[in-house]
Amino acid sequence: MGRILYVVIPCYNEEEVLPETVKRLKGKFQALIREGLISEKSRIALVNDGSKDKTWELIEGYHREDSMICGINLSRNRGHQNALLAGLMTVRKHADAVISMDADLQDDINAIDEMMEKYLDGCDIVYGVRSKRVTDSFFKRVTAEGFYRVMNWLGANTVFNHADYRLMSRRALDGLAEFREVNLFLRGIVPMIGYRTDTVLYERSERFAGESKYPLKKMLSFALEGITSLSVKPIRLITSLGFLVFLASMIMFVYILVRFFTGNTVTGWSSVAASVWLIGGLTLLAIGIVGEYIGKIYLEVKQRPRFIIDRFLHDDKDETGS
Ligand code: UDP
Ligand code: MG
Repeated sequence: MGRILYVVIPCYNEEEVLPETVKRLKGKFQALIREGLISEKSRIALVNDGSKDKTWELIEGYHREDSMICGINLSRNRGHQNALLAGLMTVRKHADAVISMDADLQDDINAIDEMMEKYLDGCDIVYGVRSKRVTDSFFKRVTAEGFYRVMNWLGANTVFNHADYRLMSRRALDGLAEFREVNLFLRGIVPMIGYRTDTVLYERSERFAGESKYPLKKMLSFALEGITSLSVKPIRLITSLGFLVFLASMIMFVYILVRFFTGNTVTGWSSVAASVWLIGGLTLLAIGIVGEYIGKIYLEVKQRPRFIIDRFLHDDKDETGS
């Protein structure tokens, strides 16, 4: 008997790709069941994120035909990350391991085998990492790779070239459930869970049909969300900037004094120039310091778990939570 695997797929207006996605995944599941890698109780969970088209009707139909497909309907459109979390949290009670992927077949489903093998080897989180981005447009590739770099630089540590194609064990999901953040950025939070992790390389292909639900505007707001919900580094930058301007004001001050004493100025210039620089620097510095405290409050109200236990050896039993 293999392990129970659930695949969670958030779907928003995906009527064009869903039939193909379901067909291919069912084939994959049947093969995996035959090989004994996963149990017959494994399921494909489709989460409808308030689609405006026939997506939910399709999902209902698939579920009626075959119990391998299950459907979760959200009350309204809540965005990719929330839809994914809703799916993960709903199925985690029934599964040993859960894989999340997109509906558009960009993530190669053949990577599931390797993910399962790594899971059976004892990994709790297996990240699907894109080996190249040849199929993405030049624009998408540059913006997306720039996005990872800027994010990491700003203190939001994510796995490079990993999106949301990943396997998580049940206890990793239980760990994820402990994060009570409202501003959700799964890619940044999952690495915080810890446990043994590994990566699987796969080639990302083109969207099978339909168009991207992530236009540039959404991508930018996603990046901003990621940065501001994971780190207070932008505030630190203001503090540093304030400090630099303050230093510059000191240099300016000396320069202004020299000009003043050599009589090389218009009346009133020295005092105005000196105060502009000094006050500008001090203001930025002050905002930065106030920001530091706001940053602390901000991280505090998130009530992130302070630890997640990996193993608990107690008396003569291994009461590990898995
Ligand atoms: N999606 C969603 N809710 C939204 C937007 C997108 O559930 O509000 C889903 C979408 O159906 C797809 C996944 O999120 O399964 C990724 O979206 P997409 O493929 O359009 O993004 P891209 O690959 O272009 O970044
Ligand atoms: Mg896509």
